Amino acid sequence: SVEIRNVNKFYGPFQALRNVNLHVPPGKVTCLIGPSGSGKSTLLRCINFLEEYDSGEIRLDEQLIGYETPGGRRMRPRRLRELRRDIGMVFQQFNLWPHMTALQNVAEGLERVRGMARAEAQAQARAALDKVGLGDKTQNHPGRLSGGQQQRVAIARAIAMQPRVMLFDEPTSALDPELVGEVLSVMKQLATEGMTMVVVTHEMGFAAHVADQVAFMERGELVSAAPPSQIFGAPTDERIRSFLRSYH
Ligand code: ATP
Ligand code: MG
Repeated sequence: SVEIRNVNKFYGPFQALRNVNLHVPPGKVTCLIGPSGSGKSTLLRCINFLEEYDSGEIRLDEQLIGYETPGGRRMRPRRLRELRRDIGMVFQQFNLWPHMTALQNVAEGLERVRGMARAEAQAQARAALDKVGLGDKTQNHPGRLSGGQQQRVAIARAIAMQPRVMLFDEPTSALDPELVGEVLSVMKQLATEGMTMVVVTHEMGFAAHVADQVAFMERGELVSAAPPSQIFGAPTDERIRSFLRSYH
């Protein structure tokens, strides 16, 4: 699980996260929704400490990520690297190496970060590519893959590391509409297999049908986290109602 407690984060004088609390249960899908600039990416980036936070704490399976106490001392970088290794992240932009094949893109981290021998890394990479439906594209370079296929390689790269949690930041926002479905269906399959996932998304259909809980953010505040039936069916907060209206 991921436990986020009383997290505050400033960019200079600007407060991007305000006393955020969120419980991400193991084996469940948490979707993060909210208007542009509400702090969704910032929160995701704090979870794997791509961003520092100013106070509060974030724990992955009890292990603290980042600071010991508010304003206290930071973790040793080495443990931070180990922790981060357990957290998979998929971005809007796929960030694949253009000069490497799909297989090399997935195997590279296994060799470099996990220290696997090449043959073992490639076998595990192939299994991950199979899982996202790209078993027949292992030798393609990213330039010879569609956007949806490239994003599936990025997902394969993350799951090949066998992370304890997967973070997705608008994984389908850069895709042509006809390619969105194949990526969402791979994510849905991962969810079915019990992967712990936090997904920032504007795909309300995905959030409504796949999420176990939906967290709504506005202006750095986590306004509400509840089952999708409640958020979409009977939102109690006017800010959520008005946000959802903008989607109709
Ligand atoms: P979007 O839906 O557009 O991706 P978001 O909810 O992901 O938005 P964030 O990217 O987390 O929003 O940004 C939250 C706020 O923090 C915004 O007002 C943004 O301008 C600000 N912000 C983000 N990154 C920085 C930065 N590096 N320096 C200063 N301000 C930042
Ligand atoms: Mg964002």
